[in-house]
Amino acid sequence: MTASAVTPGITDKVMIEMKGVHKWYGQFHVLKDINLTVQQGERIVLCGPSGSGKSTTIRCINRLEEHQQGQIIVDGTELTSNVKHIEAIRREVGMVFQHFNLFPHLTVLENCVLAPIWVRKMPRREAEALGMKYLERVKIPDQAKKYPGQLSGGQQQRVAIARSLCMQPKIMLFDEPTSALDPEMVKEVLDTMVSLAEDGMTMLCVTHEMGFAKQVANRVIFMDRGEIIEQNDPQTFFNHPQNERTKLFLSQII
Ligand code: ADP
Ligand code: MG
Repeated sequence: MTASAVTPGITDKVMIEMKGVHKWYGQFHVLKDINLTVQQGERIVLCGPSGSGKSTTIRCINRLEEHQQGQIIVDGTELTSNVKHIEAIRREVGMVFQHFNLFPHLTVLENCVLAPIWVRKMPRREAEALGMKYLERVKIPDQAKKYPGQLSGGQQQRVAIARSLCMQPKIMLFDEPTSALDPEMVKEVLDTMVSLAEDGMTMLCVTHEMGFAKQVANRVIFMDRGEIIEQNDPQTFFNHPQNERTKLFLSQII
């Protein structure tokens, strides 16, 4: 049964397809036969112990890392060394990292308009209007003229999300977006992610926030030692984990 048959907001359109993907860092076999299909509107949480290959998996999807075997197809375009394909895919895929990776010498709004102006060739005025729209979306339009260093961690992460949204991506990848934040700032970032999910964004999120997974995900995937061990809807995943490794992981984090 496809996800769209059971969960509203999910269509049959395949946005990400990973087929038999393997990757090595030198001799180290980091991804072992990853098979993953993400449909439009899906909200997937990817979890697993540190070092299990979660970051590598999502970094392969926009070619921040290169896979050596298997296929990765994003919205119908296969990731190969063809630069045009890589650029096309990067235009569609937004990514938010643990460390916000904002440009410290640029204002919040400048951070947001950079890619629309230089990559999309958008006129500055239009890009700024778009930037303000997404800063409003993440509820910090009043911070537009400040520099990242003048903002709290939670605000900086919301700027990073707004900056990604300015490229109007079809897919958002999150790599532990709240892990570097002080606890009191986690909620404001998760709330932003929840609202993106409610708008139907296709999301693949690496996170340890299991409350978020329960609230938002339609599917939770557990990775260990470079393999997908288990995946299920959150209810089944948390209440009836099948694999011993999943059970151990859940017993340690919940
Ligand atoms: P996770 O995000 O699940 O913590 P990663 O995908 O970051 O895991 O890393 C998986 C494994 O690959 C880890 O053992 C890590 O040390 C190793 N690794 C990650 N990046 C590199 C790299 N650039 N070169 C060599 N090994 C790496
Ligand atoms: Mg990681």
